[in-house]
Amino acid sequence: STRVLLNARPTGRPTHADFQVETVDLPPLATGQVRVVNEFCSVDPYMRGRMNDVKSYVPPFALGEPLVGAAVGRVVASEADDVAVGDVVLHGDGWRDVAQLDAAAVRVVEEVPGVPTSAFLGILGMTGLTAWVGLTQIARFREGDAVLVSGAAGAVGSAAGQIARLKGASRVVGSAGTPEKVAALVERYGFDAGIDYRAAPIRSQLPDAAPDGIDVYFDNVGGDHLEAALDVMTTGGRVALCGAISAYNATEPQPGPDNMTNVVTRSLTLTGFTLAAYQHHMPEFLAEVGPWVRSGELVFDETVVDAVGDVGRTVDAFLGLLDGENTGKMVVRTA
Ligand code: NDP
Repeated sequence: STRVLLNARPTGRPTHADFQVETVDLPPLATGQVRVVNEFCSVDPYMRGRMNDVKSYVPPFALGEPLVGAAVGRVVASEADDVAVGDVVLHGDGWRDVAQLDAAAVRVVEEVPGVPTSAFLGILGMTGLTAWVGLTQIARFREGDAVLVSGAAGAVGSAAGQIARLKGASRVVGSAGTPEKVAALVERYGFDAGIDYRAAPIRSQLPDAAPDGIDVYFDNVGGDHLEAALDVMTTGGRVALCGAISAYNATEPQPGPDNMTNVVTRSLTLTGFTLAAYQHHMPEFLAEVGPWVRSGELVFDETVVDAVGDVGRTVDAFLGLLDGENTGKMVVRTA
């Protein structure tokens, strides 16, 4: 098995020197274990936080130890009764080409014809559920709401905007970091308007894109984006604080909203969430969103980094994710 270790704790934006690739021989399978050839490994923004030595809602990665993360693969050997060779499984031993773990730590998933197994890392998995939970459970979206999504061309954002549209939003506005992504927001994902936050400050562009204000803000970026949103929130608006990626590589304190008094005067609700507490919504999410994916009403994009025979490319995928090289879910093909 070839896998990626955390070599050093990154300062600011990680570099290749923070990672190391090693190849190990796997021991024979013990009773109750399975061996999985990973087809796809996930890289996700939260992994940046786990590379720091700070207490958070997930413990930090250990120095000199293999990185872990979501992966989907096929079972090639099994010493477990309930998992068979050929099963497609989701598990947490990513950042490697072959995983060996207890059958209790894998979940068998049912393949969907015509949908790649990578979708279980994205639209039919963690990021899709995050979008749905943030919108429906945290922001308590109602038909007719005007919705703003930041990080809108990413995995969570592209799903959140489309779910809002399909559930009857009056207007869906998104922001992203390149003209190509902004074009995709409108043309491919069906947003009503897109903002390129690198072209001019988001705060100066948002009022034109949301002339009647925003009822629900789905925040993936924080900082200047949250500040801009607070300007245009309608009375009684709701903000789901999903992530703040603008700060993840920061070494200095980041500018924060200077207009928090709007939270008071407009009776806003800002609610943060981490998906771990909302996993039980998966069946409800799949019942609503699964048919939209099958019918093509909700599209999902993936940016696939090819790491077959070169697991170290997982690092390129992770750095590319932080740099915005992905549209939709960033996934790594390992087989
Ligand atoms: P994405 O697919 O959105 O990839 C990250 C994107 O962030 C990049 O493509 C880039 O797009 C954007 N980005 C990077 N730096 C900045 C910046 N300084 N300002 C604005 N945008 C930036 O990742 P995910 O969909 O997986 O995650 C999106 C957010 O959701 C993250 O904040 C993540 O932490 C959060 N999250 C939270 C969960 C929870 O349980 N609360 C669960 C899952 C995700 P661009 O080109 O537009 O800059």
